[in-house]
Amino acid sequence: MSAVLLGAFVTGLALIAAPRLARARWVLRSPSLAIFAWQMTCAAALVSATLIGLTTTLHWDTTHSLMCRAWQLCLDALQGAHGRAAQLAAVLGAALLAGLTARLAFGAWQVAGAERRRRRSLQAVLRLAGSRVPALDATVVPADHPAAFLVPGGHTDVVVTSAAVRQLAPDELQAVMAHERAHATGRHYWLLRTVRLAHSAFPWIPMFSTALHQVHRLVELRADDVAVRSSTPLALARALVTLAEGGARPATGNPILLAADGGDTAERLDRLLRPPAPLPATGVRVAVVAAALLPLVPVAMAVAGRYASIG
Ligand SMILES: [Zn+2]
Repeated sequence: MSAVLLGAFVTGLALIAAPRLARARWVLRSPSLAIFAWQMTCAAALVSATLIGLTTTLHWDTTHSLMCRAWQLCLDALQGAHGRAAQLAAVLGAALLAGLTARLAFGAWQVAGAERRRRRSLQAVLRLAGSRVPALDATVVPADHPAAFLVPGGHTDVVVTSAAVRQLAPDELQAVMAHERAHATGRHYWLLRTVRLAHSAFPWIPMFSTALHQVHRLVELRADDVAVRSSTPLALARALVTLAEGGARPATGNPILLAADGGDTAERLDRLLRPPAPLPATGVRVAVVAAALLPLVPVAMAVAGRYASIG
């Protein structure tokens, strides 16, 4: 029964919660909260899938409530001790667990390997073509199009093209640098990496591809919010237009870069020029607690289901 309820819960997350979160307008008022909500939604889905596998594979000894007396006892359903139907369910649960573990391990290996290779080749190019400019605290590379981006990794580096230095006014360049540094200090690369891992492991699940797209969009909004604390929305907006008109987007096709003109430029411009009111602090705190509890919901469902079956 637990597995059925957990299946309904994860289906609700994928078909109802995730699409609603993707369409929600409040995310524009608190991108940080929305990023956290996406991460907790993905975590809750993965926890649910794991628990579906566990609850169908393992058989808990009724005389020892939630604890197994021994692994032998836990796994007796797999050996057919509770009939053919229970054995089939246990085999399916074990297959789900094995598949889930293998896909996550494969996804982590794929993401880490691809990012390491791209970062190394980028850093090699930057060492050859770029020159460090201490006044900007950035590496400047010669190029005809204006662009700025962050190369994350062990040593994060802001890279700006010579065209951007030429074409952007001093306050615009400062706003762009503040945006890129906000990506670095906010560890946006790591936030993206967690959803990229889920997407890489399960690319056929729409919820994870939506989560990756949305978190990418939201980290740009969050970096804008931080940047305008030390510059002005108008300077950042003007810089965004210059970068977008430059026509070259180094982040395109390269998942490890966080470009200054990443995300939805029209949406960012509109938000900079007509900033929405932030969400009330109390509401944000309540929502953070609710989101943090989301991955615990399937755990509570599995425990409650186990108690019900014992009772
Ligand atoms: Zn950015």
